Amino acid sequence: MAKINENYLKLQAGYLFPEIGRRVNDYMASHPGKKVIKMGIGDVTRPLVPSVIQAFHEGVDEMAQANTFRGYGPEQGYGFLREAIAKNDYLSKSIDISAADIFISDGSKCDTGNIQEIFGHNNKIAICDPVYPVYADTTVMAGKTGNYNSGYYEGIIYMPCTRKNGFIPDLPAETPDLIFLCYPNNPTGTVATKEELKKWVDYARKNKSIILYDAAYEAFITEEGIPHSIYEIEGAKEVAIEFRSFSKTAGFTGTRCAFTIIPEELKAYDSTGKAHSVKSLWNRRHSTKFNGVSYPVQKAAAAIYTEQGKKEVAEVITYYLENARIMKESLSAAGYEVFGGMNAPYIWVKTKNDMPSWDFFDILLHEINVVGTPGSGFGPAGEGYFRFSAFADRNSTIEAMSRIKNHRLS
Ligand SMILES: *Cc1c(COP(=O)(O)O)cnc(C)c1O
Repeated sequence: MAKINENYLKLQAGYLFPEIGRRVNDYMASHPGKKVIKMGIGDVTRPLVPSVIQAFHEGVDEMAQANTFRGYGPEQGYGFLREAIAKNDYLSKSIDISAADIFISDGSKCDTGNIQEIFGHNNKIAICDPVYPVYADTTVMAGKTGNYNSGYYEGIIYMPCTRKNGFIPDLPAETPDLIFLCYPNNPTGTVATKEELKKWVDYARKNKSIILYDAAYEAFITEEGIPHSIYEIEGAKEVAIEFRSFSKTAGFTGTRCAFTIIPEELKAYDSTGKAHSVKSLWNRRHSTKFNGVSYPVQKAAAAIYTEQGKKEVAEVITYYLENARIMKESLSAAGYEVFGGMNAPYIWVKTKNDMPSWDFFDILLHEINVVGTPGSGFGPAGEGYFRFSAFADRNSTIEAMSRIKNHRLS
């Protein structure tokens, strides 16, 4: 008799985006002709930039010729891409990361989930609340939690992120072994300063914990002094894994390419307390279960590191950030308390008079036909907040904001 992994039975149904879709479809079906503006989902809308497209085409053409055709590539990714990442994202910013510490993959969602596999079931995991749902769900799948109970999985250490702590978690009362952090943050759009990250790095070093640092929105950092990488913090190479993705940086959500950094110095321990290289475990896992990202895609990704590619990608980021600026300004003018949106494509809004997130969702949808994401969908501490994404096109963004300004929302 085939047995299932019963941890999957603990998972709550993927409720948030299907529920948003259901409410929007119901509304549209009963109100044909209404123009609904969607600012909910965290997906990009601008096309791939010309440098990327050109390299992508060249990669495809190379596959069509016997003398340039490529079969399996290195599981860790092609040297040309790993070198370009090390040079442009790290070494040129005086961060000492070598190409050998970089693993190319098909996504940070996959990597932040799959990384769980190389760590034992008995690890205590700390995650922020609210949070990108992947961290908690993959922790459940990996059997590192108990059951679900009124908003929380037993066994996970939840760290509330609210305006009281500036959306940076306080050090937890119970000591975790693995700590998920994400900055710039999805959903709150907030960033962590060097001092704040140093607090976490020092804490992890003291406790021999590991920080799983998701920097998917690094490209949106515009303010001086905000760390782009956790490795800007001294000692972080001993305690942190960094996840980056071309998805939001360069519009690769449908093209798929990302990378994970595991420095040689990073160690985790067996039951006798003996230290082991985390990088060699991940290398074993990656080369056994993954056969690399397709060559044309890696070639396309490398094009963002050319002079022209950098310029083009920066223009797209500026476009989204200008949307975010317009949104932040309009929502503030409409009397909302607004967070994020400076170094991130998300605006995190406090609802007025603590209105529940889903009530605010329904009012926006029904009264002004604007769709966002209820904060409570990202965790119980997100209740009373609402996320708007800056990934819509400019005209829709302006239109949505003027609807919010001109209508007195009850
Ligand atoms: C979008 C996003 C990612 C990127 O995932 P990919 O699989 O690389 O597309 C990672 N982390 C967070 C928090 C995100 O919002």
